[in-house]
Amino acid sequence: MTERYDFLVIGGGSGGIAAARRAAEYGARTAIIEGGRLGGTCVNVGCVPKKIMWNTAHVAEVLKHAGDYGFSVERSGFDWPALKSARDTYVQRLNDIYQRNLDHSGVTLFQGWAILGKARTVTVGDQQLQADQVLIATGGRPSVPEIPGADLGLTSDGFFELERQPESALVVGAGYIATELAGVLHSLGTRVTMLLRKDRLLREFDATLGETLIDRMRESGIRILTRARLQRVCRKDNGQLAVDYDTKKTLGDLDSILWAIGREPETAGLGVETWGVKVDTSGFIPTDHLQCTNLKGVYAVGDVTGRQALTPVAIAAGRRLADRLFGGQPGACLDYTDVPSVIFSHPPIGTVGLSEQQAIELYGEDNIKVYQSRFTNMYYAVTREKSPTVVKLIVTGHEEKIVGCHMIGDAADEIIQGFAVALKMGATKADFDNTVAIHPTAAEELVTLR
Ligand SMILES: Cc1cc2nc3c(=O)[nH]c(=O)nc-3n(C[C@H](O)[C@H](O)[C@H](O)COP(=O)(O)OP(=O)(O)OC[C@H]3O[C@@H](n4cnc5c(N)ncnc54)[C@H](O)[C@@H]3O)c2cc1C
Repeated sequence: MTERYDFLVIGGGSGGIAAARRAAEYGARTAIIEGGRLGGTCVNVGCVPKKIMWNTAHVAEVLKHAGDYGFSVERSGFDWPALKSARDTYVQRLNDIYQRNLDHSGVTLFQGWAILGKARTVTVGDQQLQADQVLIATGGRPSVPEIPGADLGLTSDGFFELERQPESALVVGAGYIATELAGVLHSLGTRVTMLLRKDRLLREFDATLGETLIDRMRESGIRILTRARLQRVCRKDNGQLAVDYDTKKTLGDLDSILWAIGREPETAGLGVETWGVKVDTSGFIPTDHLQCTNLKGVYAVGDVTGRQALTPVAIAAGRRLADRLFGGQPGACLDYTDVPSVIFSHPPIGTVGLSEQQAIELYGEDNIKVYQSRFTNMYYAVTREKSPTVVKLIVTGHEEKIVGCHMIGDAADEIIQGFAVALKMGATKADFDNTVAIHPTAAEELVTLR
C-alpha cells in the first residue's frame, strides 16, 4: 500500500531535517527518508568532527607557546584514540538529539535508501510513499581520483574513521577541506605534504587569503608541491604508501593519503531519470531561486544543487522552502549573496562578499578601492613563533560601499560573522570608520583601515 504525505523529504542532513521540521511545525504531514546517519555530512563527517579536530590542534598550538608565556608545560604525547572516542560519543549524542527533534516536530522517519520509482512513487525498502511536494536533499560525497591505486587513499569520510594518528600523510587538493585537514594533522605532529594540481590554495576565494596561507603553511613546516600531476599510488613491501607524480617523481614512506579534491552530488542511484528530474553534466540538480527543479512539486536544497555547499545555506534554503510551501509566505526564498564563510585553517580565514578579482569583473578596476593591512596579532608579542594577520576591505563607488571583507589570522573565524551583518545591511567605509574600535584586538584593524 502507498502511504501519502503532504511533504516528503529525501535526505536527513542539514537541509532535509531543517525543511521537514519547519513544514511539520506548520501542520504539514511530513516524512523524511535517511539511508545513513541522521544529521548528514555536517554532523557525522563534516563540520562537527572537523571542528573538534581543529580545536584539538588549537590546544596543541597553545601548549607549544605555553613556555614562551612562562609556563613549564611538557607535551608528552597525544592520545588520538581517546580523542576519537570522545568525538564519536559527541557525534552520537547529536544523532540522538536529531532523532528526538524529529519526533517532537511530528516528522515520520523512514530509515533506508530512497529510490524514485514509477508513478511519482518513492520506494524505501518495501515501503511505497507519495507526496504532493517532494524535496531532494541528498547532499554529496567526496570525489576520488581515477588513477591506479586510488582506493589505497582515504577521503575526508575515512579521515574521521582513522583509529590512530598517521606519522606521515599526503593531502591531495587545494580547497578548504584539504587545507583544514593538512593543518590539523600538522599541528598534531604528523609530517604533512600537500600536493596541488595548480599553484594556489583556495582558488575560489580572494587571492590574498590563499597567498598568505600558503606562505604560512610552508613556513610552519608543511611541504607543498605545486603543479603536480598524480599518476598512481602503490603499497610498498614495508606497508607504506608511495605515489608517482609528474613524469618520474616519487613520494614514499606515507602512512596515509587523503583525497580532498572536491565533492560530487549524491544523485547517482536515486533514480532521477525515472521521474525526469533534470541534472547537469556533473549530476547536480539545478534549481531556480525558489528551489524548484524542472518538475512541478519537486524541489532540491543543499549540496545536491551545486550551490554554496555550506550547512547554514542548506538549512536556510530548506526552512524558507517550508515557509513558502506551508507557512503562507509565498515569496520566501534564500538570498545567496554575501554568504559569509570560514576556513578552519591555521590561521583561520573569515570571508564575506566579493573577492578583489570578482569586484574588478563586476565594477571595473577603476571603480573599486582596496584597503588592506598586515600585522602580527598581539598574542605573538612574546612567542618565538609568529603567525600573520591580514585584513582586507573592497569598496566601490564614491560612497565606498563595502562589497568584500576578508580576514586571515587568529580569531577570524569568530570575527567575520558580525562584519557579515554590516555588509548585508549595505555598510560603507564611513560606517566602519565611525565605529569606535575595541582595543587591543585584531578586529579593530577592520574599523581603522586607511
Ligand atoms: C570535511 C567537511 C567539512 C565541512 N565543514 C563545514 C563547515 O565547517 N561549515 C559548513 O557550513 N559546512 C561544512 N561542510 C559542508 C556541509 O557539511 C554541507 O554543506 C552540508 O552538510 C550539506 O547539507 P545537505 O543537507 O545538503 O546534505 P548532507 O548533510 O550531506 O545530507 C544528505 C543526507 O542525505 C542522505 N541520502 C543521500 N541519498 C539518499 C537516499 N537516496 N535516500 C535516503 N537518504 C539519502 C545522506 O545519507 C545524508 O545523510 C563540510 C563538509 C565536509 C565534507
